[in-house]
Amino acid sequence: AQQFLWPIIRLGDVVDDYERAKAAGSRVQGVLSREPAIGDRPDARPLEIDRGDVTYDGVRFAYSGETVITDADFAVEGGTTVGVVGPTGAGKSTLLKLLPRLYDADAGAVRIDGQDVRDVTLRSLRRSIGYVSQEPFLFYGTVAENVRYGTFDAGDDDVERAARRAQAHEFIENLPDGYDTLVGERGVKLSGGQRQRLALARTMLKDPAILVLDEATSAVDTETEAIIQDRIAEFAADRTTFVIAHRLSTVRTADRILVLDDGAVVEDGTHEDLLGTDGLYANFWRVQTGDIASLPRAFLERALR
Ligand code: ADP
Repeated sequence: AQQFLWPIIRLGDVVDDYERAKAAGSRVQGVLSREPAIGDRPDARPLEIDRGDVTYDGVRFAYSGETVITDADFAVEGGTTVGVVGPTGAGKSTLLKLLPRLYDADAGAVRIDGQDVRDVTLRSLRRSIGYVSQEPFLFYGTVAENVRYGTFDAGDDDVERAARRAQAHEFIENLPDGYDTLVGERGVKLSGGQRQRLALARTMLKDPAILVLDEATSAVDTETEAIIQDRIAEFAADRTTFVIAHRLSTVRTADRILVLDDGAVVEDGTHEDLLGTDGLYANFWRVQTGDIASLPRAFLERALR
């Protein structure tokens, strides 16, 4: 039953997602030419990480006029692991794309240790943030080069250690040329779960102060995922970490969980706090634990709309 992720909400979203994907595609063409490019300000300085505190201060964001983040306002203490959950399309990915400046906020500010992310150099910002998406990017090159990506001073043993931590070493060893196997476009085709594990290895090697995992293990088989979750927890322990997850069991032990709905944080607390609140999170928990019978009528109606 755990495999059915936000099951009821998703039923209603299948058609929508397709429509949205099409709409987004056609809009992007126009957007690219109009949006100011994200780059360094003339007076940009390197980001200085102290505790790794992250704050969103009255943040609003729209994709070409369509507001997706209505008002994000929260402060996360350095070292905290924060789960980010909510229905598909709530704005979870978008919210966290503002941190490494994949996009810039339209209003308000995102700050790391008090520094507005728009005031620091992109290079230093992205050096400090490990970002693993659901569909990670692999370039045409060897497995080792893909893991090392950006961490130029890493030796072969560092690469292997990171791969072991991310549960990738074993499948890499089974590739035709091991760590020298060519992957990416024109290379050996890897499964989604294998690509995700390489991306995790890359991030573990990079050793960033801040970690953003956006459905980072969604394509990994359940058995391997359980092991990886432990490794991730270890890795996340002393850094500020955001984990976007559909599967609530993934974020259950997080220090704090933000529930996003329609671009706003509607609930904020630990798993126990949120069950006590008996709101959206508690209802999703009922769905994912199969306790459908006790779901409030209003929730079901909304989900099936
Ligand atoms: P979530 O991660 O909670 O599923 P997203 O942040 O991916 O939500 O998406 C929030 C909303 O923004 C959705 O309506 C989605 O279609 C829209 N959206 C996401 N990415 C883009 C984009 N690049 N261009 C236009 N709209 C987008």
